[in-house]
Amino acid sequence: MTNTHDTLAAPAHVSAIAPYQAGKPIEELAREFGLDPANIIKLASNENPLGMPESARAAMLAAATSLGRYPDPNGFELKSTLSRLYGVPMEWITLGNGSNDILELVALALLEKGASAVYSQHAFVVYRLATQARGARHIMVPARDYGHDLDAMLEAIADDTRVVYIANPNNPTGTFVPAARIQAFLEQVRARHGQRVVVVLDEAYNEYLDPEHRFDSVAWVREFPNLIVSRTLSKAYGLAGLRVGFGTAQPALTDLLNRVRQPFNVNTLAQAAAIAALQDKEFLARAYQLNKEGKAQLSQAFDALKLQYVPSYGNFVLVRVGDAPRINLELLKRGVIVRPVAGDGLPEWLRITIGLPHENARFIEALTDILRSA
Ligand SMILES: *Cc1c(COP(=O)(O)O)cnc(C)c1O
Repeated sequence: MTNTHDTLAAPAHVSAIAPYQAGKPIEELAREFGLDPANIIKLASNENPLGMPESARAAMLAAATSLGRYPDPNGFELKSTLSRLYGVPMEWITLGNGSNDILELVALALLEKGASAVYSQHAFVVYRLATQARGARHIMVPARDYGHDLDAMLEAIADDTRVVYIANPNNPTGTFVPAARIQAFLEQVRARHGQRVVVVLDEAYNEYLDPEHRFDSVAWVREFPNLIVSRTLSKAYGLAGLRVGFGTAQPALTDLLNRVRQPFNVNTLAQAAAIAALQDKEFLARAYQLNKEGKAQLSQAFDALKLQYVPSYGNFVLVRVGDAPRINLELLKRGVIVRPVAGDGLPEWLRITIGLPHENARFIEALTDILRSA
């Protein structure tokens, strides 16, 4: 008999999942290398180097008095705020425990064995994980110039495809697809597949785009019932630790997501902080400006070091260092945490989150030192 009850039973598609590799926490590096946590800088998880907005901290502390009760399962106040800011009805909004939650809810609602999802090589890893967890088929389309090849992605859509994931800007490569190209893709998908294929437009870094690249993706939601746009409070809004994001889609798709959503998926503190952060225009402007300057600081340093990098539209820069495992280890010894991206099919590259000016400078100094002594 093979059923001996002495091993855990899981579907093969679950056992085959390669777990998410998060950025190394500061405390872990301090323990491993005997370093002082105060001297470690972390540029590994695309967090906001300004930390959380003061406005959000105050709102969160005020909300902390009522934690004996469950959160509002429908997030009324947060959805009202979003509804006002984005000009869509509340019934079009799904709140998520981070926007990862939205990406997973789409997979949970639409994918199964016998269905497939299309995404790009070097795209955000969660698309692969969410697809795999449902036992659905992966259609990974080769990247073009490290970004999404939408022509090839359109052709790759198969009879069993239900979801196409697009990250714009993309993580970890930082590439960006202009609005006109996305719009054309949405029209092509509609012409060929109607509403059978849902497009997920993941805009986690939208707030970092320069004004000339901004576009109204929510207007597309009004036009395309098979589109969901996801946004997060984790990056420019500085609330990564609270876990809150949201998706905007027409009611039929929103209703499907709501069926598989955990009732209390966004906690009380997160809801309160998000309401404040979304209205804190001053903080957002500061985050944008700091990022712009840090991006120039890193780009200039990579130019000086003659290192190839991908011009970034996000809050991080992907740079080709060659022997990435060795360079990463040397950076860690110097108290600098960045993100290796071999798991994303980029074994010679590292992804550097843009930090405060002095943090960027520490990283540049350490990298320069390592490359000189090689
Ligand atoms: C960081 C990131 C997210 C979501 O992060 P959450 O903290 O779950 O909101 C989503 N998509 C991309 C491309 C990201 O880089």
